[in-house]
Amino acid sequence: MSKIDLTVPDLGNFDEVAIVDVLIKVGDKIDVETPLVTLETDKATMDVPSTAKGTVLEVLAQKGGKIAKGGVIARIEGEAPAAAAAKPAPAAAPAAKAPAPAPVPAAQRPAAPPAPAPKPAKPLRPDVPHDRETQLLVLGAGPGGYTAAFRAADLGMKVTLVERWPMLGGVCLNVGCIPSKALLHAAKVIDEVADMRAHGVAFGAPSIDLPKLLEWKNGVVKKLVGGLSALAKQRKVEVVTGVGKFVSPHVIAVTGAGKTEKIRFEHCIIAAGSEPIKLPFIPDDPRVIDSTGALELGGVPRRLLVIGGGIIGLEMATVYAALGAQLSVVELTGQLMPGADPDLVRPLEKRLKARYEQILLNTKVTGCTARPDGLAVDFEDASGKRTDTFDRVLVAVGRSANGKRIGLETAEIDVSDRGIIPVDKQMRTNLPHVFAIGDLVPGPMLAHKAMHEAKVAAEVAAGEKSYFDARVIPSVAYTDPEVAWVGLTETDAKKNGTPYKKGQFPWAASGRSLALGRDEGFTKLLFDPVTHRVLGGGMVGPNAGELVAEVALAIEMGATAKDLALTVHPHPTLSETLMEAAEVFYGHATHTMAKKKARAYIAPPDSPRGGAVLTFAGRLRLPSR
Ligand SMILES: Cc1cc2nc3c(=O)[nH]c(=O)nc-3n(C[C@H](O)[C@H](O)[C@H](O)COP(=O)(O)OP(=O)(O)OC[C@H]3O[C@@H](n4cnc5c(N)ncnc54)[C@H](O)[C@@H]3O)c2cc1C
Repeated sequence: MSKIDLTVPDLGNFDEVAIVDVLIKVGDKIDVETPLVTLETDKATMDVPSTAKGTVLEVLAQKGGKIAKGGVIARIEGEAPAAAAAKPAPAAAPAAKAPAPAPVPAAQRPAAPPAPAPKPAKPLRPDVPHDRETQLLVLGAGPGGYTAAFRAADLGMKVTLVERWPMLGGVCLNVGCIPSKALLHAAKVIDEVADMRAHGVAFGAPSIDLPKLLEWKNGVVKKLVGGLSALAKQRKVEVVTGVGKFVSPHVIAVTGAGKTEKIRFEHCIIAAGSEPIKLPFIPDDPRVIDSTGALELGGVPRRLLVIGGGIIGLEMATVYAALGAQLSVVELTGQLMPGADPDLVRPLEKRLKARYEQILLNTKVTGCTARPDGLAVDFEDASGKRTDTFDRVLVAVGRSANGKRIGLETAEIDVSDRGIIPVDKQMRTNLPHVFAIGDLVPGPMLAHKAMHEAKVAAEVAAGEKSYFDARVIPSVAYTDPEVAWVGLTETDAKKNGTPYKKGQFPWAASGRSLALGRDEGFTKLLFDPVTHRVLGGGMVGPNAGELVAEVALAIEMGATAKDLALTVHPHPTLSETLMEAAEVFYGHATHTMAKKKARAYIAPPDSPRGGAVLTFAGRLRLPSR
């Protein structure tokens, strides 16, 4: 045993580079190849692996500092390495990409100039045999996985995409977002036709051909999934079908078609998604379904109970109610769609109460027994216990992340008891060469979040400086009416004491909404009381999901109420309700009476958001963030 200095190897054409992360601490037991620090040049980020095995005595590299070739990263007590200098393991070869240095006259040249770092070929861990290698392995081909694979391939990486299902697209395309929206469209047509009866247009009762409806829904999915396969081929992304499991920090074993092959990777992006949560007391019975079963449309039950009043449960309820089932929805909390502001949910709840058999809030399901005449479900609420029998039960109580099902412990990748993998803003796990995205990292389980995270992970793996720094992620329930919200909610603002002012516009005053035969919706926007910047917003009504994107953009761009009020919105559209909600905030909306005095913008000269200009008639301009 001896004291060994672990130093920075030759970095090619870079003198000093930034230390973006220090990956070891005093007392750590490290091995040859353990990553020590992450360095960043203007071309790439790279990890420097250890060249010796031992215990860390001292860490000299400091996060945020700089280091040059030969600089000591750490001092360890250990076994002397066979070769003294550590080799960099860049994400992309910075030296290869860097411009060649200008020629230097022979007399001025140093005696023995160091050779530039070769293109990295990480030494293989001797303890893990493998069948083949790839530069980037993406585990899971949902919206997170395929987006990451495509982005990385576009950036020139050799990509292998491992998926256990025979088709790409994951939950979203196959059993989630897309098939549910196809069926919700059918439900919308059925409901709108029925509603028009009161306005003089009657078609009679709909004739529903379930197999044909199913075929259409499957056709939509097939078209999209087929498109993904073609895009993967065009990008030369290698697709491997099988179940993947980590067997070491650099190797995943893929089992499929009766064989297992071990694939070694330089980088990995974990995108293995989530599964529906099962309730332990619910019997294994074909009349009990989850969202995947519900999308298979295996008949329309007479009485259907949906357990869970969240977005997925309510969307499925919308479909089955339109197809003719008598709906009951049971929700544990005191509100449908927990997470949304209660006022946004109220118009939906009112409509559902008029159409559904029962909506049970603050009610717990405590048991379920399969009987020949139906599923007997036990309920418990403040008034006591009761049992009711249904023809079918749809369980939609949430989804659990797949982080505990893919052998992460073997690779020493951190994961919570709930299967969630912690990541930093570059989507890196505790192992710098392994990234995680989508449903199995913190945050809402939504496809658009997964896709944005995917691009960041792929770009960082390819050596780019990317960060996931979205200010907000919109939420949409495609119910009837739709409910959508983004950014600050009033519930959270009140809970956290965040100051805000509100502008709210009723859709009863929107010509477009009335022309759609609907008047129950509204749009509300929350603004910073000082700068008038948009902090959050939501709307309830037909097509609310299309409108919320404007609020998201306003928040990302630091737009103010004035920006929204002065932007010419097309007439007659529901988008005008955003403009009018901003006008309400200023107290002068055209199509509704102002309750408050008109508000002028006065920026305090010493405001921390400073530099704002007083504009009453004009657009407010603030310095960018
Ligand atoms: C009914 C329903 C409706 C939804 N509607 C919407 C919506 O309207 N909008 C929205 O934003 N979100 C919606 N979602 C959520 C959305 O589907 C998910 O957030 C999204 O699919 C997550 O993407 P992902 O890439 O993280 O994971 P997933 O889509 O779950 O993909 C993970 C993939 O990994 C594969 N996989 C898992 N383990 C392994 C393994 N060991 N080996 C190989 N492959 C593996 C899986 O087979 C799957 O293909 C809905 C979900 C459901 C269920």
